[in-house]
Amino acid sequence: MIKAPVNKIIPSSVVDGPGNRTAVFFQSCNFNCRYCHNPETINMCISCGACVKTCPAGALSIKDGKVVWDEKKCCGCDTCIKTCKHNSSPKITYMSGIEIWEKIEGNLPFIRGLTVSGGECTLQAPVVRELFTIAKQHGLGTLLDSNGSYDFREDPENLLDVSDGVMLDVKADNEERHMWLTNHSIDIVLQNLEYLASVDKLEEIRTVCIPGGLENEKTIEVVADILKPYLEKKNIRYKLIKYRHFGVREEYRNFVEPDEAYMNSLKKLAEEKGFRNIVII
Ligand code: SF4
Ligand code: SF4
Ligand code: SF4
Repeated sequence: MIKAPVNKIIPSSVVDGPGNRTAVFFQSCNFNCRYCHNPETINMCISCGACVKTCPAGALSIKDGKVVWDEKKCCGCDTCIKTCKHNSSPKITYMSGIEIWEKIEGNLPFIRGLTVSGGECTLQAPVVRELFTIAKQHGLGTLLDSNGSYDFREDPENLLDVSDGVMLDVKADNEERHMWLTNHSIDIVLQNLEYLASVDKLEEIRTVCIPGGLENEKTIEVVADILKPYLEKKNIRYKLIKYRHFGVREEYRNFVEPDEAYMNSLKKLAEEKGFRNIVII
């Protein structure tokens, strides 16, 4: 049975896709974005033991050289997250798709869908596929929240067969800026952008907006150019996300938070470029 590291499950969320949804957050990411709001989801725990000593509830211990988390004792204070210098968390549970489903199926009467996020959810593709297959059998919608590094054109794990769509991050406009921001190439992200639109699996595009060096205007222009053949026929949602300092690592908190005027100027630009469904959050 294949299991994946689960960071947390939010039973009811209205910010992870349309309607009320359960959101599953997996641990580990292949990007390292400077503005990441959840940097503790980037790496797997290396069991260095540092957080064990700082846990005030005795919820962490070391067994056979591995850190063990006792969920029942945990008070959720996040001291361990603040202690960890490795962008990780000891509060991880390994679960199969069936096990995740058993944990969330009680939410069924209250939700219209399931969203998987991270970290990067596509790194856990076999478990996501298993989970989404069951969710579909129960009539739930299924969405992937992805940084775009998985090759959706080849789709080696057959994720699109069981997914309604992808909420795709487009974080920058060119290779240099994307590498600087994420430590990962932009090529596959832009190829996915075009491909997902062509097969009607692009649920929304997401760009985190920071005034200055990131040049968000250029990102909007690049996205619009790629989606030009589709924008008239399809009402593709573009979510412009305000950068906020909350949760961001100390060394990267020198980014400027955008004001309303800046966000509205980006919205206007996106409208001029043909988007009709633009959301600022
Ligand atoms: S959040 Fe972390 S430090 Fe706090 S009680 Fe739980 S395991 Fe311990
Ligand atoms: S979560 Fe971080 S501090 Fe705690 S054992 Fe793992 S690597 Fe060390
Ligand atoms: S892709 Fe998302 S989870 Fe991964 S480092 Fe970037 S912001 Fe963080």
